[in-house]
Amino acid sequence: MFEDGLDDFALETLAVRAGQQRTAEGEHAEPIFPTSSFVFASAEEAAARFSGDQPGNIYSRFTNPTVRTFEQRLAAMEGGERCVATASGMSAILTTCMGLLKAGDHVVSSRSIFGTTTVLFNNYLTKFGVETSFVAQTDYSEWEAAIRPETRLLFLETPSNPLTEVADIARLAELAHANGALLVVDNCFCTPALQQPLKLGADIVIHSATKYLDGQGRCVGGAVVGSEEIVGGDVYAFLRSAGPTMSAFNAWVFLKGLETLSIRMRAHCESAGELAHWLESQPTVKRVYYPGLESHPQHGLAASQQRGAGGILSFELEGGQAEAWRFINATELVSITANLGDAKTTITHPATTTHGRLTAEQCAESGISDGLLRLSVGLEDVVDLKNDLARGLAAVAG
Ligand SMILES: *Cc1c(COP(=O)(O)O)cnc(C)c1O
Repeated sequence: MFEDGLDDFALETLAVRAGQQRTAEGEHAEPIFPTSSFVFASAEEAAARFSGDQPGNIYSRFTNPTVRTFEQRLAAMEGGERCVATASGMSAILTTCMGLLKAGDHVVSSRSIFGTTTVLFNNYLTKFGVETSFVAQTDYSEWEAAIRPETRLLFLETPSNPLTEVADIARLAELAHANGALLVVDNCFCTPALQQPLKLGADIVIHSATKYLDGQGRCVGGAVVGSEEIVGGDVYAFLRSAGPTMSAFNAWVFLKGLETLSIRMRAHCESAGELAHWLESQPTVKRVYYPGLESHPQHGLAASQQRGAGGILSFELEGGQAEAWRFINATELVSITANLGDAKTTITHPATTTHGRLTAEQCAESGISDGLLRLSVGLEDVVDLKNDLARGLAAVAG
């Protein structure tokens, strides 16, 4: 039913229906196939599967029916031809880089990316002769100036973490293509429910499924989505040889997560918007970073590029680290943890946790001040959340 004509269905329909193929048992929910390998009817069939003459499963490092259902569903939701699921978000990024880059190639990346991605680019890709230049997320002349003849990938997350800077995907896709490069977008913050980078011209979408795709903090996983040629070609070829594949059980959990993604994202956006406006009116709050606020520098771009401003916001308190820690320690409901995209609201002090590896100078350059707090707004009642944050504000006001 969903093999052809995917465009005929809305995202919410694809989220609960795409990719499922019932077995002869007629099960309603998607089955889990916890098996490492598959049996052939004959020596002839085994040979035909291995030679590729006959399609079908061989071994779960290559393909697994539960994982394939997740891949087809996410590909449909992102508007991509092909998805490969991976063991984590980081292995999705690694698999993309190892599949598409070779010694001598060059990457241009936004400076405002997930910290471990920066480590991967700086400490490991360099060992294989791939250099990365880092640029300011929203300074397009810097992106342009950093491109070299050997540039193969442009890489970014939008909105960024933790300052929610929004980059123009269509504009960067044009820049990449004019220079023979591909645009890779880590779509972790928005998910396809709010933003479909492939439809804006990006070539590859990366996911940490660990975050909103699961949405309930249960499993670690990732995915790469794009064309059959690129993702089904070199990216999949690396995955199947190197092996950072997703387990069948995790794929099943993520499938269940996708079914509720759209309504969860709507609720995350609604509560985050309400809290952002409320925080902005508080005297001890210096600044709120949230694309849904009119005060956000890329408010208009976010409104045209995204179907909602997302569930992540940051705010800067009057004062420094002492005030930020006092705020966190006065809360009783929100979880003090660096994870995000969860049903449970989480609060983080980036300067001493996620961005703690940065020098004071790098922090200043990235705009991560000592008084900055990041909130991943969950699905609790928004009045209860407001009351909890009010405890933090009261502690700061002394
Ligand atoms: C968490 C995260 C990753 C890494 O994903 P893991 O599943 O933890 O490996 C990559 N990008 C972004 C934006 C993330 O938030």
